[in-house]
Amino acid sequence: MEIGSKDIKLMLIKIAQVYLIKRDELAKLDSVIGDGDHGITMARGAKEGKQKLEEMSDTEPINEYFKSYGRTLVDKMGGAMGPIFGSIFTEFGKCSKGKELFTKEVFVESIEKSTAKVMDFGGAKLGDKTMVDAMIPTMEAVKEALTNGKDFNEITQSAEEAAYLGVQNTIPLIAKKGRSKFLQDKSKGHQDAGATSYYYLIKTINEFINSL
Ligand code: ADP
Ligand code: MG
Repeated sequence: MEIGSKDIKLMLIKIAQVYLIKRDELAKLDSVIGDGDHGITMARGAKEGKQKLEEMSDTEPINEYFKSYGRTLVDKMGGAMGPIFGSIFTEFGKCSKGKELFTKEVFVESIEKSTAKVMDFGGAKLGDKTMVDAMIPTMEAVKEALTNGKDFNEITQSAEEAAYLGVQNTIPLIAKKGRSKFLQDKSKGHQDAGATSYYYLIKTINEFINSL
């Protein structure tokens, strides 16, 4: 299984489509413990990002698609989430620079670097009830799977399972970052919107890799 330019362009378009479909669900999650804009912000970035990708040829270096999508999210989403979520794709772009194929090693390095970037940039730690609570278990799962010699599609499968559990684990937490932190104890018992968005990203990558 070789994953090249055309595949990465298509994978990112599929990712964008997911946020268009999940707009209301993500907005609803954010409305319980945030200000309810998360789904709208994600969908706005996705729509613009998808348009930019569609304007690109199918033969660009793979890092260019990630770079374009990340930059568009930063520019168009705005708020705190634009730079944070956009930086994930920027890191994928950096890790795939100069690479002709998107391999499992590139994927795992991208997951590691993007997790570190989001934590460094947003300052959230494990247990703060943010996206980071889905990112850390995903990172640990993919590192372990790669070390154990798993195939790419098994690595993304373990990523999806870990991200799902990470999202479930946000439910009992008290928010320490973002707007939800002002709710204190009232943020308990609700699933975090940003962590859910990260889960959908990983789930879409897994479905794409398993469809090849
Ligand atoms: P805003 O908080 O500006 O309304 P969104 O509603 O788009 O932004 O996003 C809310 C999500 O952002 C939260 O559910 C949480 O997962 C995530 N988040 C908030 N602060 C941080 C942070 N410092 N690091 C990582 N993710 C964060
Ligand atoms: Mg919000």
